[in-house]
Order: sequence, then structure tokens, then C-alpha cells
Amino acid sequence: MALPRVDIIGLGGTISMAGAGAAGVLPTLTAEDLVQALPALAEAAEVQAAQFRMIAGSSLSMADLVATAAEVQRRLDEGAAGVVVTQGTDTIEEVAFGLDLLVPGEAPVVVTGAMRNPTLPGADGPANLLAALQVAASPLARGLGALVVFNDEIHAARWVQKTHTSSPATFRSRPLGPIGWVAEGAVRIALRPVGRRQVCVPAAAPQRPVALLTMALGDDGRLLGSLAGLGYSGAVLEALGGGHLPFFAVEAAARLAAEMPVALASRTGSGEVLRGTYGFAGSESDLLARGLIHAGALDGPKARILLSLLLQGGAGRGEIVAAFGEA
Ligand code: ASP
Repeated sequence: MALPRVDIIGLGGTISMAGAGAAGVLPTLTAEDLVQALPALAEAAEVQAAQFRMIAGSSLSMADLVATAAEVQRRLDEGAAGVVVTQGTDTIEEVAFGLDLLVPGEAPVVVTGAMRNPTLPGADGPANLLAALQVAASPLARGLGALVVFNDEIHAARWVQKTHTSSPATFRSRPLGPIGWVAEGAVRIALRPVGRRQVCVPAAAPQRPVALLTMALGDDGRLLGSLAGLGYSGAVLEALGGGHLPFFAVEAAARLAAEMPVALASRTGSGEVLRGTYGFAGSESDLLARGLIHAGALDGPKARILLSLLLQGGAGRGEIVAAFGEA
């Protein structure tokens, strides 16, 4: 039986890094190099590999994300059954969520990388790449939205977070856990996500930068107050707990919300921002009444991806509120 075509797009990151000594490892190995070093890939799919970027995950930009989504779509339109993106783990959760929003349809789009670079004992890149390819080739993975496959676990892009600086088990999905796993090459899907946001960004649409600000004990709103003059089109506040600011930062937040869309997320990293539990100055009810937009259960980085892409796609306030309101 003919194997499905699965394309691998390399963006760089630890999975591609080489070098040694005091200088540290650098993105070096191309997607073609990774494929050549792993003959088992050819047993799972007809592989086409291409290098698209060669940088650390921390240097990927919103422009890179939008361009990668277009490249994924182009390859699916050309006949690929699925696509694997390899990249630095630092921004996997954001790129995967962006691909979830930007690439419509049922075909599996899988993001993976490595925590241990190829020069280290126990390098996890090859195992992650093989499992990612097996998932991207599997009809079982269709219709799940973009996925992150890592450490033999399958995570939905909308939930996954990097939670550890060095562990190969760094990716977690709170509050649900992985939606499936890979065992001896077999793809198992235990949960299917319900609903999915989609955003359309026209090819030539200019970027709309969105700031992400995490609030902390005693924050007096100084940074918040200075955001309006910095050229941002929107902002995401990772507020305290259920969506709270110190009362002395509220005026700055309200002024900013009068200037641009400001999404209210939580710095806790899990759970929905509250809507109407507390009534103190700086509470969620106070901030929502002052025009901040409820970010639902999205954490700060994901809320920033959604708001950036919505603005780039030309969405107005009503569409933005509606998109954040979707589960
Ligand atoms: N700093 C690396 C990167 O994101 C980390 C990794 O890939 O694991 O490129």
C-alpha cells in the first residue's frame, strides 16, 4: 500500500543544533539532515523535507508564524496528507496555537522539537520526530486541529504549555492532559477537542503588534501607563489570580483599554478568568466594566497570538470579544 505523503518543515531549534564546547550549540542541521539520519521515518510516510527558517525558537516572529502557516497550507494543497513542523521548544506553544488558528481543514499539522540537542546522551529529537511523523501520517489524527507531539504524548495546540526549562517531559496541557499518545509506533487518540477558533489573515495584511504584560505584587501601573505611546495595536494583561490588578493600577488599565483592545488573562496559567465573583477596585468585574476583554481560558502567550492575528486579519472589537468568548 502506498504510504501517505508527509512534509517536514524545519525552523531550527534544539532539534537542529550542533557544535560543542564553550561556544554552545547552534541551529545547524537542516530538515533534510534530520530525515537522512532517521531511516525509520521512511517506513511511516513518503517524506518531503525542507528548511524554512534556521533560528532558535526564541527568535521566531509573528511574521515567521504567518509565513509558516502559509507554507503548511501550500504543502497540504499540493497533496501532503499531513505536515510536521520542527522548531525550538521555547515557542512551540505559540506557533502550534497560531497554526491551529490559521490552517483550516482536517489534515494533521504537528509541531515537535527536542529538549536534548543531538550532541547529548539521550537526545530526544529523533524519537520526537518519528512520533510526530507517525501522528501526521495517521487518519486518526485528522480533525484534531494543530498538535504538539513530544515525549510520545499528543497535545492539542490550544492547551499545551512548556512547563520546564530542561526536562524532555516539559510539555503539559492543563487542565486536561494529553489527548493521546504514541505506543510502539501506534497512534492512540483518547480525547477529541470540541470546537476550534479560526482566523483568516490576508497575505498582505500588515502586522499588528500586541504587548504582553505580567502583573505582580505592588505593580503601580507604570509600564501599563506607558504602553499607549509605544506603537502597539493591542495588549494582553496577565493579571493576578482570577483576573485582578492592584487598585492603584486600574486607572492606567482603563486608559489603555480606551485606546486599544486589552485582553484580560491570568498569570496562573490555567483556568478561566472570572467574570463576576469579586467587586473590589481592580477585580475582574471592575476591569471588565472598564472595557477590558475577557480572555477566557487562554493563557497570556496564547491570548497574545489570538489578539495579534485577529487584529492583523482586520477584526473589530465585536469579533475580538466573540473570538475570545469561544471555548
Ligand atoms: N532555546 C531552544 C529553542 O527554542 C530550546 C529548544 O529548542 O528546546 O530554540
